Amino acid sequence: MFENLSERLSGVFDRLTKQGALSDEDVKTALREVRVALLEADVSLPVARDFVAKVQEQATGQAVTKSVTPGQQVVKIVHDALIDVLKGDSDPGKLKIDNPPAPILMVGLQGSGKTTTTAKLAKRLKERDGKRVLMASLDTNRPAAMEQLAILGNQIGVDTLPIVKGEDPVQIAKRAKTQASLGGYDVYMLDTAGRLHIDAELIAQAAAVRDVANPRETLLVVDGLTGQDAVNVATEFDDKIGVTGVVLTRMDGDGRGGAALSMRAVTGKPIRFVGLGEKMDAIETFEPDRIAGRILGMGDIVALVEKAQETIEAEQAERMMKRMMKGQFNMNDLRMQLEQMLQMGGMQGMMGMMPGMGKMAKQVEEAGFDDKILKQQIALIQSMTKRERANPQILQASRKKRIAAGSGMEVSDLNKLLKMHRQMGDMMKKMGRMGKGKMLRQAMK
Ligand code: GDP
Repeated sequence: MFENLSERLSGVFDRLTKQGALSDEDVKTALREVRVALLEADVSLPVARDFVAKVQEQATGQAVTKSVTPGQQVVKIVHDALIDVLKGDSDPGKLKIDNPPAPILMVGLQGSGKTTTTAKLAKRLKERDGKRVLMASLDTNRPAAMEQLAILGNQIGVDTLPIVKGEDPVQIAKRAKTQASLGGYDVYMLDTAGRLHIDAELIAQAAAVRDVANPRETLLVVDGLTGQDAVNVATEFDDKIGVTGVVLTRMDGDGRGGAALSMRAVTGKPIRFVGLGEKMDAIETFEPDRIAGRILGMGDIVALVEKAQETIEAEQAERMMKRMMKGQFNMNDLRMQLEQMLQMGGMQGMMGMMPGMGKMAKQVEEAGFDDKILKQQIALIQSMTKRERANPQILQASRKKRIAAGSGMEVSDLNKLLKMHRQMGDMMKKMGRMGKGKMLRQAMK
C-alpha cells in the first residue's frame, strides 16, 4: 500500500526546527517526498516534475503559519497548487445544450465506459434539468453495443433511436438529428463506436459523424485507472476530433486519481464528470478539491492549515482595525490591505464589502484599478524605508523621487497612493468615531 504523504513528510520535518518562513532547503526536502507521492498516484513523470518546480517557487519564503508544522504547510501549498492545475471551467457539470435539439458526441475506447456514461448523463439531464433526451448508438460493428444502449435506455426511461440494420454511423447520426427535431427532443446523444486501440478508421468515423452532427459538446470517456495511457488517448482524440471535455470513469476504484492531473496538465481539457460505479446514478460533477485530496491522501491536514490561517488572518485584521480606529493607519496597514484585496479578488470586491466604502468602490472602478495597479502600489510601499512606512507624512520631494524610481514608477503614481492612504485614514477615523454599533447599522443599509 502507499505510504501516506503526511507520514513521509512528518518524518522529514520532525528533524527541522521551525522558523519564521519556509526555507529553500525545507521546501526542497518536502517536495522530494511530494514528487514520489505524485508518481505513486499515477501522475506522469514530466507532469510531476513541472508541478513540483512550480510549487517550489511558490512555497519558498512563504511565512509559516502558527500552530502547524512546515510539512503541513507544504502539503497545503501543494494541495492548492493541485487544485489550480485541475480546475478548468467554473462549472464543469454544465453542458451546452441550448438551441434544441443539442447534439452531444460521446467518444472513447471500447471498454472505457462510454455507453454506460452516455446513459448516466442522459438520466442526469432528464432528472436534474428536465430535458427530453434521445440516445443513439453508432456502433455498427458491435450489435451487442447497440442492444446495450437500448436496454439502458429502457431502464432509465430515456428513448433510444430504433436500430435499423445496414446503416452506417453517419446515416444513423443524420437519422438521430431528424428524429430529435421532429420528436421535440432537447438533446440527442451519439454514442460512437469504440475500439480497443485508436486506429485510423475509428478516428475517421468519429470525424465524419462530428462533421454531420456539429456537436455542442464532444465528451471523451476515459478509464481513470489506466493512468498514462488515458492521457495518450486523450491527446490523440483531442488532436484528431477535438473534445470539449473529459469524463473519467472508474474513479470508484482504488486508483489514486493521478491520471486526472496528467490529463489536465497535458491536454489542457477540462475534466467534466467522474464515473463512480456501474449504477446509473454513479456519476458526479468533477470537483478538483476532492481529487487533489485523493492524490495527496490527506484532506485532514489541509483543513487544519486552512483553519490556522483563518484564525491568524482574523487576529491580524482585528489588531489592524483597532489601530485604524484610533487613527493609526500607516503604510504597513495599507500594504496589508492591498495584499488582502489582491487575494480577495481585487479592490472593488473588497471595498464593496466594507461599510461605507460602496461609493469609493465605484470610484476605484472608474479609475480603472485592477490587480496590476494593486501590485504596483504594493511595490511602491516596498520601496519605502521602515520609517517612511510608519510615518508617510515625512515624504517630501526627494524621498518621493527615490521611492518612485526604486519601484519603476512615477512620482505621480506615488502621489495617488498617498492620497488614497489619506482618504482611507480619514474614513477610518470617522468610522472610529461612529462606533461599532453605528457602523454596523450603516453597513446593513
Ligand atoms: P464502452 O465499451 O466504452 O461502451 O464501455 P461500457 O459502458 O460498456 O462499460 C464497460 C464496463 O465498465 C461495464 O461493465 C460498466 O458497468 C463498467 N463501468 C462503466 N463506468 C464505470 C465506473 O465509473 N465505475 C465502475 N466501477 N465501472 C464502470
